[in-house]
Amino acid sequence: MKSFRKELWFNVPARRGFVNITRDVEACLKESGVTEGLCLVNAMHITASVFINDDESGLHHDYEVWLEKLAPHEPVSGYRHNVGEDNADAHMKRQIMGREVVVAITEGRLDFGTWERIFYGEFDGRRKKRVLVKIIGE
Ligand code: ZN
Repeated sequence: MKSFRKELWFNVPARRGFVNITRDVEACLKESGVTEGLCLVNAMHITASVFINDDESGLHHDYEVWLEKLAPHEPVSGYRHNVGEDNADAHMKRQIMGREVVVAITEGRLDFGTWERIFYGEFDGRRKKRVLVKIIGE
């Protein structure tokens, strides 16, 4: 069995943002040489997510509005976590959008459903953060 590990680094210039990382993950798969197996992609920070959905800007705007309703950034003082920091909402947004995804690898390709793409979701950006890609198979 082959095993491959790589960290991808991102620095989203705003507090929040979504980045399509599908091509980065496909590049990892090619580098791994695995043609049948599984690919795990997870955020290595508790204020960022990795999720799969549509690469459609209207939907990404809707996510932003929805997440702000569920866990608004302001008022910062409304969260007990925000003592010396202001990212309680980012922890909650991460919880909602998830930590990781697993994609099947079939015949050397990520075996996606229709319109599925992999995204990095940043909720407390303006600094370098990592995503782990782990690929196992043969
Ligand atoms: Zn925090």
